[in-house]
Amino acid sequence: MGSSLLLSPISLDAGPKKESQWLPAYEKLESEGRLFQRIKQAYAILENCQLCPRKCGVNRQKGVKGFCRAPVKPVIFSTHPHFGEELPLVGEKGSGTIFFSNCNLRCIFCQNWPISHEGKGKEIRDEDLADRMLHLQKIGCHNINLVTPTHVMPNILSATRIALKKGLHIPLVYNTSGYERLEVLKLLDGIVDIYLPDMKYMDAEKASKYSAGASDYPEVTKKAIVEMHRQVGVLKMDKLGIAVRGVILRHLVMPNRVAGTEKFVKWVAEALPQSTYVNIMAQYRVEYKAYDYPEIARGISAQEFLEAMDSAEKHGLTNLDPQSIALRNFYRHRQSNGVPLKSNDFSCFEVNKNI
Ligand code: SF4
Repeated sequence: MGSSLLLSPISLDAGPKKESQWLPAYEKLESEGRLFQRIKQAYAILENCQLCPRKCGVNRQKGVKGFCRAPVKPVIFSTHPHFGEELPLVGEKGSGTIFFSNCNLRCIFCQNWPISHEGKGKEIRDEDLADRMLHLQKIGCHNINLVTPTHVMPNILSATRIALKKGLHIPLVYNTSGYERLEVLKLLDGIVDIYLPDMKYMDAEKASKYSAGASDYPEVTKKAIVEMHRQVGVLKMDKLGIAVRGVILRHLVMPNRVAGTEKFVKWVAEALPQSTYVNIMAQYRVEYKAYDYPEIARGISAQEFLEAMDSAEKHGLTNLDPQSIALRNFYRHRQSNGVPLKSNDFSCFEVNKNI
C-alpha cells in the first residue's frame, strides 16, 4: 500500500488558487471525505488481485505477479503532452498522457507492445506519479490521460489524492481497453470524469484468439461501457470545446471485419444514447505478432473504413469523431471524382496514433 494512505483527509485549501471554476469529480469526493476510503478499498483488492476480469488472485502487495506481470508499484514508460488523441482531449496544449507499462489484455497486434507486453519503463512511487500529474497540469495540459490504467488503479487513486493536495484540478481520463470489472469501476464512480474505453471485438472467439484467451471480453466490456456511461454520461465540453466529462468510445476497424464493426455500432445504438461520442478509428497497422495471422496481416482498406462509417450512420449514431468524418469525406470526394479506392489505401495512415 502507498504511504499516502497514512495521510489524514486533506484540506482543499492546500493547493494553489484555481484558474477556472471547473471542479473535478475527485475533488468533490474528497470534500465529502470519501476518496480516502476508496483508496483503501482499491489497495485491499491487490492482496488477492481481482482488479480485472482475469482475477488472478495473487498477492501483489507481496510482489507476486499475475497475468499482467505488474509489480505493486506503477511502472511508467513516458509522460508527455499528446496531440494525437481526440480533439476535445487535445485542445491547444495537449492531453497530459501517462503511459503505464504492462497490460491485462495483451493483444497480439498491440502497437505499444514493448511497453504493454514487455513492461519497459521505470518503477516509481505513488508520490512520483502525483508529481508527474502536477507537471502535466503545470505545462498546460487539459487533462491527465491515464493509458492502460486498470492494473495500477489503486496507485492512480492514491497519486490523485496526493496531487489534489498540491493543487491538481484537471479531469482524469481513464484510457482503457474496456476490459474492466463492474465492481472495480464502481470504485471509480465520482473520481474519473472522462472514460475513454475501447470496444475491440464483438465476438468471443476473436477476443480469445487475439487477446490471450479473453473470450469474455465482448460481454464484460459491453457491461463496463454501460456502467461508464451511467457514471459520467454523454461527453460534455466547455466553451472552448475541451472535454470536461463523459464517455469517448473508441472502435478500431480491423481488416476482414475482424472487429465486428457492424455489430458494434448496432449495439451502441441500442445500449447507449445515439449522441454518444464514438471514434471509428482507421489507424490499424500490422504490429508485433499480427504478422502470424494472415487475416490481420495488412492495414485496412479505404473501402473497409467507409463501410464502417456508413454502418455507424445507418444505425443513427450522431456524434462521430470529426477526424473520422473528415477522413470519410476525403475518400468520398475522391470517389466522386472518379478515383478508385485502392485495396490497401490506409497502409500509410496513422490517425490518432497512441504514442
Ligand atoms: S490486474 Fe493483473 S494480477 Fe490483477 S487480476 Fe488483472 S491481470 Fe491479474
